[in-house]
Amino acid sequence: MQIIKLSTKCITVATGALALVALLSVPVTTRILAQEGNPIEVAYIDTHGHIELAFEEGGVEAALATMDAEGIQQMLIMPVPLGQEADEDDVAGIAAQYPDRFAFLGGGWTLNSKIQDAPDPVSPEALASFESAALEILRQGAIGFGEMVGEHFSLRRGHPYISAQPDHPLFLRLADIAARYGVPIDLHMEALTENTPRDSLCEITTVCWTHPRETNPNPATFPENITALETLLSHNRRARIVWVHAGWDNTDQRTVKLMRRLLEDHPNLYMNIKFRRSLTNRPLDGAGQLRSGWLDLIRSFPDRFTIGTDAKYPADQGEDWIPLHRELLNQLPPDLARKVGYLNAIRIYNLNQRLICHRPGTRAAQTIWVDASSLNAHLAHGDSVGPCG
Ligand SMILES: [Zn+2]
Ligand SMILES: [Zn+2]
Repeated sequence: MQIIKLSTKCITVATGALALVALLSVPVTTRILAQEGNPIEVAYIDTHGHIELAFEEGGVEAALATMDAEGIQQMLIMPVPLGQEADEDDVAGIAAQYPDRFAFLGGGWTLNSKIQDAPDPVSPEALASFESAALEILRQGAIGFGEMVGEHFSLRRGHPYISAQPDHPLFLRLADIAARYGVPIDLHMEALTENTPRDSLCEITTVCWTHPRETNPNPATFPENITALETLLSHNRRARIVWVHAGWDNTDQRTVKLMRRLLEDHPNLYMNIKFRRSLTNRPLDGAGQLRSGWLDLIRSFPDRFTIGTDAKYPADQGEDWIPLHRELLNQLPPDLARKVGYLNAIRIYNLNQRLICHRPGTRAAQTIWVDASSLNAHLAHGDSVGPCG
């Protein structure tokens, strides 16, 4: 089943002024099934998933089986933050093998590592090395940068604590690169509106879990980070920042009120929705009913939300929280369900276009967006994927 009908537009990336196509004018078809008691069912796009080949076999098969069972047309996969260096190549390989089902974001290993290892102050060499790594990721065919980390709690064994303020100079540079080429940044960041003692969160999540041999345990206090997020967002308005995991809140601070305020103030802020079992600030209540505050929020910003399950395959296959994402879509009015389910994902992640270098190595070399259906024709006359050198 193919949901995206392609046009033949060819868009030039002008220096300093990226021309954006009105993606929603592109014809889109999808499977929409009427079911009893289930008024509309949309084949959705999961904008945030992981396939971890380094640990276990069968991740691709598990992901495809879940996608078919859940009506997930396409999944955007990316290396988990500081997971395994090999993940960067794995996700590219999977997307190349199944171009209709997977696309990938890159940098979860490379770019987070460079941020964590950067000298303070950041040297010109560190900036240049970071930028060339980011461009290399786009030349691999990545559709964005992810999964990047602002604040990542350690919640179980082997799950590291990672922290970097989103206004770090390398994050600001990444925003400039993302803006220049029109690709999004996928950012994992626990919401911290104030410095927060770890022990105050023991009741709502496993953040107080400790293991004597853990290499990177949680600190006693987590740093406030909303100020730095807003600096990142306002640094370059052309950079689309996807603050992932809305609805999965480990601080009880990612409230509807906070998200509404940030979405109002920052037109380049997007979010994807993730369910786990915790009810803290999530869209569905304990009875599975859509909370009115969330419906109002999505209704107020209908173009800013997508679904991003954050499922890790093969481990998460069959988890009971996976169908909750569809339950949310089924409770949205049809117009919002289509936007949150797939239309927003197509636009935010440029899913029907490809960034290429047209006539590389010549004086006429030009970085352009082309329609995905014309990619092979461009490659056949010597063009290359990603920005020109
Ligand atoms: Zn994450
Ligand atoms: Zn993730």
